[in-house]
Amino acid sequence: MINENRRSKKSWLLIPVLLSAVFMMTAAPDAAGQAADGVSPKNSRRRIVIDPGHGGHDSGVKGADGTMEKQVVFALAEALKGQMGPGYQVFLTRTGDYKLDIRERSSIANHHKADLLISLHAGASLRRALNRWTIYHSAAPRSDEEALPPQAPPFDWHRLQQPHLSASVDLAGCLKKRLEAAMGDQEVDIAPAPAAVLQGADLPAVLIETGYLTHPATARAMTQDAHILRTARAIADGIADYFEKN
Ligand SMILES: [Zn+2]
Repeated sequence: MINENRRSKKSWLLIPVLLSAVFMMTAAPDAAGQAADGVSPKNSRRRIVIDPGHGGHDSGVKGADGTMEKQVVFALAEALKGQMGPGYQVFLTRTGDYKLDIRERSSIANHHKADLLISLHAGASLRRALNRWTIYHSAAPRSDEEALPPQAPPFDWHRLQQPHLSASVDLAGCLKKRLEAAMGDQEVDIAPAPAAVLQGADLPAVLIETGYLTHPATARAMTQDAHILRTARAIADGIADYFEKN
């Protein structure tokens, strides 16, 4: 579930101060291929940051059977990392079950100078029969936002995504195609969302909501290896399709 956009602007302002420390504590780069200065050399592997939503006391949504969003998206994140080939360097924003602030998540992707950010979530509904897959890209700023003076330094967080928006929409299209092919009759929507994890990403970024945990069959499937692997494979293929075009 996306609950990233409810933070006060005041709390955002604190994040840049904490960035360096947070980056050191939470980023978990692969040992191999990391340039000493943290900057990707030319023609190096593509850098992908996978962001499993929630963590720690924030369980995300819960299925009727107790399945927790933070667990299923973490399992999917690890499976996706496993499906990415040698042409990629993959980082997870969180590598265990702990709390991670929303802004820290996009900050990690920004600091890694990643090529893509894929945030993983599951959804929920009051109606058990409802199940929906959605790929969110950042929403364009409202006209009144555009008129606002810049936020306090160093970053105007909610505008970092804007130069990458069309690439993010393109990425969403590639993922939708592969996910729908892998899931059979499951439709995958593409929609804009003012999600902070996307808005603060200075790189192409999408948030995938992989069905509703309140849908009993979906909750069951999300804990099953075959389903997790099929989803991960489809996302990996969608990423490869995107890079073939970009
Ligand atoms: Zn969520």
